[in-house]
Amino acid sequence: MTYAVKECFLTLQGEGVQAGSRAVFLRFAGCNLWSGREQDRAQAQCRFCDTDFVGTDGINGGKFRTAAALADVVEDVWAGGPDRRLVVITGGEPMLQLDPPLIDALHGRGFRVAVESNGTLSAVAGIDWLCVSPKAGTKVVQRSGDELKLVWPQAGIDPQALEGWDFPHLLVQPMDGPENAVEAAIALAMERPRWRLSLQAHKVVGLA
Ligand code: SF4
Repeated sequence: MTYAVKECFLTLQGEGVQAGSRAVFLRFAGCNLWSGREQDRAQAQCRFCDTDFVGTDGINGGKFRTAAALADVVEDVWAGGPDRRLVVITGGEPMLQLDPPLIDALHGRGFRVAVESNGTLSAVAGIDWLCVSPKAGTKVVQRSGDELKLVWPQAGIDPQALEGWDFPHLLVQPMDGPENAVEAAIALAMERPRWRLSLQAHKVVGLA
């Protein structure tokens, strides 16, 4: 298969349980909940996206014909030794393109494979760390993983219902934009102790 990659860069993971970890971010192009075009946002299933996942024109972006070719880029971008190699595969929606050959190729280069998904597509086998971030009004089929990240507030989502899903870590993260989002996220974490506050540290410190 050909992989369409928006960008691939080295940074620190800014969110969630692994915040602060050195990681290669591999961002696939495309999402199944929004076209990525502003003129379509009001009609999209997901309307609060803060990410540009359209096209293949970002740093190290492009179309890759093989898993090995793409894994080579990830390894080059890591530009470090064999210790604690971590790649975070995101999008867009990575499950549209991620497949076992790519996971195998990354494992073969010593990477732990973390994935950030909206959960509307089933996860492929072999992922080392799966973060699912549900969006209101969508059918989430992937109800197990390592980390459930709830962007908050979202009308139409009941956090109590999500507590029945199979995730050891429940994180609530303020939505980027609404004025009351931080307060709402803090209030949820205070009311329901299984939820922990996650902040987008990369935005605070000015990382990509
Ligand atoms: S599901 Fe994720 S990538 Fe897709 S539009 Fe929503 S926030 Fe953006």
